[in-house]
Amino acid sequence: MLQLREIKKDYVTASETVSALKGIDISFRKKEFVSILGPSGCGKTTLLNIIGGLDHYTSGDLIINGRSTKSYTDRDWDVYRNHRIGFIFQSYNLIPHQTVLGNVELALTISGISREERVRRAKTALDRVGLSGQYYKRPNQLSGGQCQRVAIARALVNDPEILLADEPTGALDTVTSTQIMDLIKEISGERLVIMVTHNPEIADQYSSRIIRLRDGEVLEDTNPFSPEDEEAECKETERIEKEKLEEELSSAATEKEKKKIRKNRKEKAKMSFFTAFMLSARNLISKRGRTAMVGFAGSIGIIGIAMVLAFSAGIKGYIASMQDDMLSGNPIQITETAYDLDALTGMMDSSEKAEVIKKLDGHVYVSSIVEYLAKMNKDINSIIMENDITEQYIDFVKSMPKEYYNAMLLGYGINLSINVFTDFKYSADSEPRNISVKNLIDIYTSILAETDFKDYASYVGALVPSFEQAPNNSDYIGSQYELVGEGSKIAEGTNEVMLVLNSEEELSDLLLAMLGYYTQEEFEEIVRKATNEDGTYDENLYRQSFTYEELLGREFTWYPNSTVFTKGGMFGYSYNHESANFSDENAVTLKVVGILKTKENVSYGSLSSGIYYTEELTNHILKNNTGSGIVEFLKDDAASAALASTYYNIPYMYSYTNWEGEYKTNVPGTVGPSFTMKDMIGGSFGGSSDIDVSDMKERLIRSLGGNPIANKVLIYPLSFDEKDLVTKYLDLWNEEGDISYGDVTITFDERMDITYTDALELVITMINTMIDIVSYALIAFTSISLVVSTVMIGIITYVSVVERIKEIGVIRSLGGRKRDVSHLFNAETFIIGLLAGVFGIGVTYLISIIVNLILKPLINYSSIAALPFSNAIILITLSVGLTLISGLIPASNAAKRDPVVALRTE
Ligand code: ADP
Ligand code: MG
Repeated sequence: MLQLREIKKDYVTASETVSALKGIDISFRKKEFVSILGPSGCGKTTLLNIIGGLDHYTSGDLIINGRSTKSYTDRDWDVYRNHRIGFIFQSYNLIPHQTVLGNVELALTISGISREERVRRAKTALDRVGLSGQYYKRPNQLSGGQCQRVAIARALVNDPEILLADEPTGALDTVTSTQIMDLIKEISGERLVIMVTHNPEIADQYSSRIIRLRDGEVLEDTNPFSPEDEEAECKETERIEKEKLEEELSSAATEKEKKKIRKNRKEKAKMSFFTAFMLSARNLISKRGRTAMVGFAGSIGIIGIAMVLAFSAGIKGYIASMQDDMLSGNPIQITETAYDLDALTGMMDSSEKAEVIKKLDGHVYVSSIVEYLAKMNKDINSIIMENDITEQYIDFVKSMPKEYYNAMLLGYGINLSINVFTDFKYSADSEPRNISVKNLIDIYTSILAETDFKDYASYVGALVPSFEQAPNNSDYIGSQYELVGEGSKIAEGTNEVMLVLNSEEELSDLLLAMLGYYTQEEFEEIVRKATNEDGTYDENLYRQSFTYEELLGREFTWYPNSTVFTKGGMFGYSYNHESANFSDENAVTLKVVGILKTKENVSYGSLSSGIYYTEELTNHILKNNTGSGIVEFLKDDAASAALASTYYNIPYMYSYTNWEGEYKTNVPGTVGPSFTMKDMIGGSFGGSSDIDVSDMKERLIRSLGGNPIANKVLIYPLSFDEKDLVTKYLDLWNEEGDISYGDVTITFDERMDITYTDALELVITMINTMIDIVSYALIAFTSISLVVSTVMIGIITYVSVVERIKEIGVIRSLGGRKRDVSHLFNAETFIIGLLAGVFGIGVTYLISIIVNLILKPLINYSSIAALPFSNAIILITLSVGLTLISGLIPASNAAKRDPVVALRTE
């Protein structure tokens, strides 16, 4: 069975070389009970370990069944241990976190035997050693004798040919020792048992052969077996085996079955990763407190990154969800001047390198602000695009497919306040006067001009809310706005207007004043309340609110230029600020028919707070005013000259009584503010002396509805997706080739580039870029905690290796491969990584739910923290990957442990 030839074993340590075995020659029979006796340190354990293939001889040879082991690989040794050897140790070497059954199964587990078979065989082995009914106990619930029985069952479960026992009763009392020895004796009937003991009585009583060792040499052998006999025995065994195989093969019907039989006979030792996984899982469960802590610590970094990703994705989703909504507030705009956004970003990017000059010592060099300004000027001019919006272009835009947009609004620069008149009272009981809205604005501006904040009063014009045309699609407006007030409706036709409330459902005092809802006294009271230092005001005159009924139904009259401006007067035409004698068949009575407020789920409506009229009215104005006398007059070159020389005074006269009771007028010769052309068109300019007269004239003509070619187009795309179609269509104009629409064809040479403004695109791109930048920065920070936890898991795995060093030895003694051991620890880190990842993701989703619940009422969006599923999977993979990496070194360290040293470790 076994033959030891000249076996020598030297232990080389740093200080000395110990010769533990000095040339051992022994041959063993197939069946016998050999006791090895000898004092401590004589080399008994070393010999046993060499026989068991756990330790390797320095020289000599170990011949197993006639085959030399000189050329054995690690793999061969593993298979040998697993299939032919059963080890019993003095200190049992049971794995504490496995059940009795689990411990016994281990040897079979390593062989890769199926679970059912494992359990069946392990139970049989346990029954045999008298432990039936104790399967599911843990080793620490058993007595020493029971532990050793478990160890014997484990050694037997693989039905080994050789049982090696190293002082199996060394730690047991006499009674238990006897029981164990009886058990071993019983087993020895079927196989070779080699038992190390220092107890000669036991050796005498139980064994059939006693070998005494002294200082690494055989001193005595009571029943030697000659090598020749051993070889003969081997040949006989081989012959019997061969016969057996042939018998089996002949009984097999098919080739397949034959193959199977051969395969089954082939010895193997292979533990699957799944098995390693289950073993580690059991270990981790037995230390569940620590496992939970480690998993939690590992998850913190994952939670951090996951939360950042969740918010990043959630906010992007939020923005995407608002895109369509925001579109109504940010239509695509085509105006006469536009900013070339590409050039703008280009300008910001180009940190043009300054000319490098060699600086001489002893000189102070000049930095040129002038050059800088010149460059600035050049850059700024390159980003401001002057758009020459022609009739052709407007036609081109109008020919855009209707299904791309909700509404298209053409702006003509009309200032409606000049031509619209309303009833105005000084006080509640004074006679109403029908004056122009423009006049009303002027009155209030001059009232404000007499307050402490008179310096700002000139900006009031810019603050007055719009009197604008609404997009020509009432369904579109209806989709964003809700109507309030009895009988309230969206304005339609030439003669209806509507009020739009701001997000707080208010209208501004200036709008209400401009529309004549206030009396002058009431408005003065507002000013008084705001400016009086002691805060006193007349409560009876101070109006804080209006009912819907008061707002609805109010009427205004629009008069054509031919009525509002009269030929004659000092400068050609004069402006009639009061409608006392107006009668015009083309006049339109405008009535407030609706009050609109933004729908609750709409964040950005297409209309800002103000008063709105219809496209029909615009068309009516253009029809009446384009060819009007004053417009023709203004177009006249002579008039231009006159305008230039008279410092833009297009005079119109007004008079009113101000809040101090003074009579104010601009009629020459009387005292009052001087109103000029620029006041008429209601703009504010940087300086008065360098105003471009022709530009101003053009704007004045537009104010009066004198230019039928739109100078501004707003396009409200159907949705964010259609926006691309709109911009693609508009881009056609600037691209080469002919353009055809209707029956018109325009060649590339006939067209001037037009730059449109897609503010939303810019905003969204910017926001998304910012979110990305912030996310990356946050992820970089949170990654630090990930690194920390990875290192920590590495350390803990190392601790675990140290703790499980005995287990490593046992697994190796049972034939486990180095790889099985590293699998064991890799499985452990895998589980921890998975645990940390899944836990981290779980917590993230939980936090997300809470955050979303809290934020939903605030932002009206229910998933501001939304970790994409794909990111969750990636993060779990990352967690597993990182912990696996962190455990690689400890795991390979574990695999490299010498099993002998591992088993010797206490
Ligand atoms: P026994 O089992 O008979 O008490 P051992 O086989 O354990 O003896 O040890 C034999 C000799 O080899 C002893 O002197 C021991 O100190 C030495 N020895 C055993 N293992 C090692 C080792 N790993 N390194 C160095 N010396 C060792
Ligand atoms: Mg020993």
